[in-house]
Amino acid sequence: MSQNDFQQEAELLKLSFQQMYLQKGREQEPHRELHSANLLESESEWCTRRYVLMNLYPGEVQKPELKSWDWKREAIFEDGWARHRKIQALFKKYANVVQDEKGNLELDLTRLLVDDRLFLSPDAILHFGSEKYLVEIKGLKQEEYVLLTDDLMQAISVSQVVAKARIQANNYLFFTDLQKAIIWIENKNKPQDFKIYVMERDFDLFKPYEFRVDEINGNTYMVKNHGLKMLSDRVCHSPQDKLAQNCPMRDLCFSSKVEEVK
Ligand code: SF4
Repeated sequence: MSQNDFQQEAELLKLSFQQMYLQKGREQEPHRELHSANLLESESEWCTRRYVLMNLYPGEVQKPELKSWDWKREAIFEDGWARHRKIQALFKKYANVVQDEKGNLELDLTRLLVDDRLFLSPDAILHFGSEKYLVEIKGLKQEEYVLLTDDLMQAISVSQVVAKARIQANNYLFFTDLQKAIIWIENKNKPQDFKIYVMERDFDLFKPYEFRVDEINGNTYMVKNHGLKMLSDRVCHSPQDKLAQNCPMRDLCFSSKVEEVK
């Protein structure tokens, strides 16, 4: 076989490997409830109605169709997942990991805050001396990693990833009633390079996200007690909007079931 034949064969094999990422993504069950990470959606992506509909009709949640190019997103997701698993395995063996009341280790342990109807899974909660630290893990591309100094405020000004990690950690601190968090930022290109930031919880930073939770639960209550006419307004103009295309409640949101009562 010529070099050209090998290259063509490699291209075909690469396509099959990309398909595997897609297959894995398609097999994953969609979330049927609000998770803490959803609260971080930007203002332009946020829709209260989506989570109210999820609360009221969990059986109507649909997984948005993955496009052929979405294998890239799946590959990035798998890479992040592997990073978390690696660091959590280190903690499991060598750190003093906090346990819940049933003896489960606080390593990606999912809990439900019943009153808030909210799920969360902190990356880890560790003991150091008398202190408990919540841990948030993130990976950063080399070009962004090199911009970071040891100052968290500087880091959030140059990296959206670090800024979101800080908000996520801060939200978790309030939801778990802890005071301090560690943000672990790893260089994706050189895993031996990582930065550790320590932060205390900040109520002003938490407020807008607490408001989102209250808004969802308030509107869910109103719809349950006074009917669908109370459902919060759509933010999408049509089912073809970019936001709607990625929304697990799109079909229900634009269906006559909801439409007729508005
Ligand atoms: S389709 Fe748009 S308006 Fe409707 S629930 Fe989803 S995000 Fe909200």
